[in-house]
Amino acid sequence: MTPDEFRKHAHELVEWMAGYMENVSGLPVKSSVEPGEIFKMIPDNPPQFPESFDSLMKDFNEIIMPGITHWQSPDFFAYFPANTSPASILAEMITSTIAAQCMIWETSPAAAELEEKMMIWLRDLIGLPSGFEGVIQDSASTATLAAILTARENATNFSGNIEGIQNPGSLKVYCSEQTHSSVEKAVKISGIGNRNLIKIPVRDDFSMDTEKLREAINADKSKGFIPCCVVATLGTTGTTAVDPLRAIGEICRENGAWLHVDAAMAGTALILPEFQWMLDGKEYVDSFVFNPHKWMFTNFDCTAYFIKDAGKLIKTFEILPEYLKTRTRGIVNDYRDWGVPLGRRFRSLKLWSVIRTFGVEGLRAKIREHINIAHTLEQWISKENDFEILAPVVICVVCFRFAPAGHNEEQLNVLNEKLNHQLNDSGKLYLSHTVLNGRYTLRMVTAQTNVTISHVEKAWDLIKDSARNLL
Ligand SMILES: *Cc1c(COP(=O)(O)O)cnc(C)c1O
Repeated sequence: MTPDEFRKHAHELVEWMAGYMENVSGLPVKSSVEPGEIFKMIPDNPPQFPESFDSLMKDFNEIIMPGITHWQSPDFFAYFPANTSPASILAEMITSTIAAQCMIWETSPAAAELEEKMMIWLRDLIGLPSGFEGVIQDSASTATLAAILTARENATNFSGNIEGIQNPGSLKVYCSEQTHSSVEKAVKISGIGNRNLIKIPVRDDFSMDTEKLREAINADKSKGFIPCCVVATLGTTGTTAVDPLRAIGEICRENGAWLHVDAAMAGTALILPEFQWMLDGKEYVDSFVFNPHKWMFTNFDCTAYFIKDAGKLIKTFEILPEYLKTRTRGIVNDYRDWGVPLGRRFRSLKLWSVIRTFGVEGLRAKIREHINIAHTLEQWISKENDFEILAPVVICVVCFRFAPAGHNEEQLNVLNEKLNHQLNDSGKLYLSHTVLNGRYTLRMVTAQTNVTISHVEKAWDLIKDSARNLL
């Protein structure tokens, strides 16, 4: 493709992109294709000779689009937000055009230095102490793996990296029962072993019961185990419960355990002064992760990982083959030593674009609006006798169920599951679910970039009508 041909296709594509943004709310939110349907329509062999980009776009529209679930629809209320914004998309266009490999400073100094500055902006915006340093990772799962590996090395005096894990059963990691599965994955991969991940029971509000944490650590220590790390969550996946950081931090300090904080989604709320309470106890934190690629209008992937002692992170990951030795080593940040991958995309550019074009107050206004919408929905649900709220609404997730009189728990579970499928099959909205205390729970997340109260009002009317028609 020549630059001129590219120019023509790119202009057409930008038209397509703007049209998509304008019309996405009219598309069926959840794709309804059958398993294998798309696979069957794609030829078994690649073309031997060049095809036109126009023919590709034709197939894209006809074959691929029906199999897309529209996360950018304001009627998408499932799982968690995976937001984008025009500012983020424009920056990604530049990133993929210059396609620089940002593995070390020398391979694109601007990328390394913009990343360093963006992490300072973000750190200050969310209120982490100034000693923290940050790095962009591809996902919270990767950042949590980095945290667990660093905690492992910290607990073994950096011998694990050299000798291997000699006595895997000796280290213990703690998190609550509501913690994201990425912690379990990290504990498996790190060689600590799943059996040594201790899940602490939660209180009524689904936050970690810190008395139970203390008991578990004491019991393990009396058997000779080493408390290596505690993972606290700000905003659990199921209900956005907030673990009490100060109480957990004090226990970590007493026992020499690393404190990792998973704030993947809720971290964005920390840009609001009224949510700084979640960080009470931040002086105990060793590492912290949050995802601008969830709720901060920056498209996947963009995870912000912060660490109090970056030296320990680097000591855990550092490698220095001859071909990566440079004259600037030690003077600048070579981010390849700050995580698992060597190759790195220029991800700070989209963050810069988003923060500058929204402005801090613009970001805050959106986040506040999403939180207010969740609370309004909570009030609407509470007013109906045949619905009930099943978890405290903290930020942008509302957990509830249809609970008409005269049904036992098992019948209610069946009814709500049916309701969930029926609503999602309608294509008009998309909800996901969780199970809380054995109850099938509908989860409605009011945090898509363009969601407004009227989208939620329309959805709530549909939910009420569909539920009552089920009886
Ligand atoms: C989404 C989420 C994760 C996983 O994030 P990825 O970036 O997809 O790895 C981890 N923890 C919590 C609390 C989350 O909400």
